[in-house]
Amino acid sequence: MLKTTHCGKLRREDVGTRVVLAGWVHRWRDHGGLIFLDLRDRSGLVQVVFNADVNEEAHRRAAETRNEYVVQVEGVVGLRPEGLINPNLETGEVEVSADRLVVLNPSKTTPFAINEEGEVGDTLRLKYRYLDLRRQRMQRNIVLRHRVTTYMRNYLDRQDFVEIETPILLKSTPEGARDFIVPSRLQPGKFYALPQSPQQVKQLLMVAGFERYFQIARCFRDEDLRADRQLEFTQLDLEMSFVDSQDVRKLIEGLVTGLFEEIGGKRLQQKPLPVLSYADAMDRYGSDKPDLRFGLEFANLTDLLAGSGFGVFSQAAAAGGQIKAVRAPGCAGYSRKQIDDLAEEAKRHGAKGLATLKVEEGALHGPIAKFLTEAEMEGIRQRCQVENGDLILIVADAPAVVAEALGSLRLVIGQRLGLMAPDVLACAWVIDFPLLEWNTDEKRWQAMHHPFTSARDQDWRLLDTDPGAALAKAYDLVCNGMEIGGGSIRIHDQELQGKMFAALGMSPAEAQDQFGHLLEAFQYGAPPHGGIALGLDRITAILADEASIREVIAFPKTASATDLMLNSPSPVSARQLTDLHITTAE
Ligand code: ASP
Repeated sequence: MLKTTHCGKLRREDVGTRVVLAGWVHRWRDHGGLIFLDLRDRSGLVQVVFNADVNEEAHRRAAETRNEYVVQVEGVVGLRPEGLINPNLETGEVEVSADRLVVLNPSKTTPFAINEEGEVGDTLRLKYRYLDLRRQRMQRNIVLRHRVTTYMRNYLDRQDFVEIETPILLKSTPEGARDFIVPSRLQPGKFYALPQSPQQVKQLLMVAGFERYFQIARCFRDEDLRADRQLEFTQLDLEMSFVDSQDVRKLIEGLVTGLFEEIGGKRLQQKPLPVLSYADAMDRYGSDKPDLRFGLEFANLTDLLAGSGFGVFSQAAAAGGQIKAVRAPGCAGYSRKQIDDLAEEAKRHGAKGLATLKVEEGALHGPIAKFLTEAEMEGIRQRCQVENGDLILIVADAPAVVAEALGSLRLVIGQRLGLMAPDVLACAWVIDFPLLEWNTDEKRWQAMHHPFTSARDQDWRLLDTDPGAALAKAYDLVCNGMEIGGGSIRIHDQELQGKMFAALGMSPAEAQDQFGHLLEAFQYGAPPHGGIALGLDRITAILADEASIREVIAFPKTASATDLMLNSPSPVSARQLTDLHITTAE
């Protein structure tokens, strides 16, 4: 190797040793006869001193280097003089007194400083991602990601899992999101699809008898990049035979607890992880991925206020809606403007309006107070468990709107009151999801997770009578208000799978055409099985204390799905298109 050790490894014990180092010039200071050069490699930094009296040529060459030059230096490790020890640097007790320097490669002035952690615009960072990745924060994040996947692999290997790669060139099937498709040159007019997830093939691996499979799998979904999404993302994908939901959850609980505590040094708010039903989560928090770092649960006032003299309440209740409230502790002093802002937030989430009450000296005040009877006020005080100084936020609307609007207000209040402690992880399981949800645009049922998820045994019969009431053997793992994983026990019976496809409005011929491979495989001794997928990008971002998954992906795309470094997507040659039997429309 071009080096005998690594910069960041040198310590007091190494004093007196002759070393050869190679790395990047992190920064340098020229003090005339003495040049101090911080040399950086992946392991960290060490100070190298060039003294003109020790070696004139090395000193001269050092004077010619600039930041980010790649150099090799040779010298002797010495103790830094008392008073010049840098306690902030792991190698801060020592320095290398160098007598040789070779420039291995010079560097242009970089478009942003590598040796500072200051803010750099995203466009520049992504265009020069290889330089951005050189910075300490990104080095730390990418190495952390490696430690996460290594931990996962080791954990699952100990549990007897087999890592199996599945095809990237797969088949297009309607699974939820839009597929990326790849034209076939050899079979004109036909296409492969990139996997949205290895769902079907991992189930086929269970039919194949592997019993325990996993993969760090890249998934592709051609969606508009809302919020913090990427077109391609990575999940820990796994599948197990002869298990029920609890078995999968237990295995994953062990894995994420270990990851968060051992690799991330984080504290879990509650262990074992709490388990909530979907209905409960929606009822109490208005979300199937509630942020459980804080309480502020909803109070249901529907029956109490159904006959209220306040028309908005009584009308909502009469129309089958709900009236629910959430407390904003200590917010009774909010100004008109602050309350209007909360009402705007509710409206952005579909509510027609927001009613508020202030709690002062045990009494409820506000524009709607005059419509409420003493019994109604007492009911509100009790159900909301009010305290003086509270602001009570009330939304009356269709249940889905109440959940959405009040759920978002709950988060706003939690955020404002500093209840979302950044160093605590509140993870939980959400179970008993509905099997199906109604697609109002297409006027048909669709699978809430995916069409391979099994209904609870007792709920299959509901598919004929009340499909919306059937619950699934599905489970999501949530953490601080984010979904970080989801899975289910699958259907392994050909007839039930057919029944599910029928419930989704597919004719037997369509089901055969799209999913014949699965229906056929299930006729050859398919074992009961289930699995899960964890969002690797999100989990790593949480461990790295990063808000965006982009910060833990080496080469991410922008919000408009562009790779600024490679300048992709990009046009291809006419020849390539001809080979693929493709003509493009202007
Ligand atoms: N294939 C599912 C997904 O990607 C996860 C699973 O059910 O295992 O969301």
